[in-house]
Amino acid sequence: MEFIDLKTQYQCLKERIDQRIHKVLDHGHYIMGPEVQELEIELANYVGVKYAITCANGTDALQLAMMAFEIGEGDAVFVPTFTFFATAEVVSFAKATPIFIDSDAQTFNIDPEKLEEEILKTIREGKLVPKAIIAVDLFGLPADYPKIEAIAKKYNLKLIEDAAQGFGGSINGKMAGSFGDIATTSFFPAKPLGCYGDGGAIFTNDDNLADLLRSYRVHGKGIDKYDNIRIGVNSRLDTIQAAILLEKLAAFPHELQLRNEAAKAYTEALNKKFITPFVPDGYVSSWAQYTIVSNDRDALMATLKGNGIPSMIYYSKCMHEQTAFLNLNQKGLAVAERLSGNVFSLPMHPYLEKHDLSRISEVLLSCTVDDAQ
Ligand SMILES: *Cc1c(COP(=O)(O)O)cnc(C)c1O
Repeated sequence: MEFIDLKTQYQCLKERIDQRIHKVLDHGHYIMGPEVQELEIELANYVGVKYAITCANGTDALQLAMMAFEIGEGDAVFVPTFTFFATAEVVSFAKATPIFIDSDAQTFNIDPEKLEEEILKTIREGKLVPKAIIAVDLFGLPADYPKIEAIAKKYNLKLIEDAAQGFGGSINGKMAGSFGDIATTSFFPAKPLGCYGDGGAIFTNDDNLADLLRSYRVHGKGIDKYDNIRIGVNSRLDTIQAAILLEKLAAFPHELQLRNEAAKAYTEALNKKFITPFVPDGYVSSWAQYTIVSNDRDALMATLKGNGIPSMIYYSKCMHEQTAFLNLNQKGLAVAERLSGNVFSLPMHPYLEKHDLSRISEVLLSCTVDDAQ
């Protein structure tokens, strides 16, 4: 059994993907070919924003956002401590300071109340200038944007949605990738919408930001890449990856439905014995991960492994506990610390068979767990 079964997905889409790749090989525009533009239009339509700007990966997408907002030394950027490293890395790479925020115990996403407390504390201390918030759609569930957008507005902060895991999710029909001033995503193969290498995209409704991001993406270009009006980077999406993504995006709405059916089956089987994912009313998750909570994580994962079932821990360390961030000396993020100690993720992908789903649940239910929660 695979944790994320990309091979079966390829077998299902093989003919169409192969044809698309061959079209690129035939026309030979390997960089910024017509598929890139076609994909950017399709992505913007799907997400419901004016502009989608593709780039080399999800980390670059966040870094380009930092550049577009001129975030740098002396600035504070508020990020969840329970996330993938890249979310916080780009802040430090821009020479700004990440301020880590604790998680909501139910959704695992950034806790809006703690966010506001930390913003006020930073203002009171007066050492750093609060500049931006990066909210993450962890495991596919959109963060609490109604509350976070209000906080960003109140304190005049830029809001970036890190939808690397959230692509396909929504809140009352508004798609992930459409929240905040800029949203970013990743097409790393294992993400809900993945390509066959590295890839990423940035979403915005703002004309000026879109122009700026397109310039930064190609060496700070002006009229063309040999007219350089600012210092930028080289962060383009390959045409072949765009071609693959066009076919994968066409299949994505159906896959999203299959992911949600798999999640529903897990929850129905497991929620009496385990803490299963919480999806607030009106929210749709893209189920980048199906993550449960248990004090007996190690024993459960060992039993799964013994039955040939893979499981993973996302994430066993919070950002404030990472060696690279120990110098920031941020403490007291108790909810996230507890989560990192007892969450684990089960196989999740659109091609998960019903009998595999039942077997995984049966193995978990057969374990005697010591969950005094
Ligand atoms: C994967 C991921 C990224 C980085 O994306 P890459 O394409 O791997 O650079 C950023 N943020 C989150 C939350 C992610 O899960």
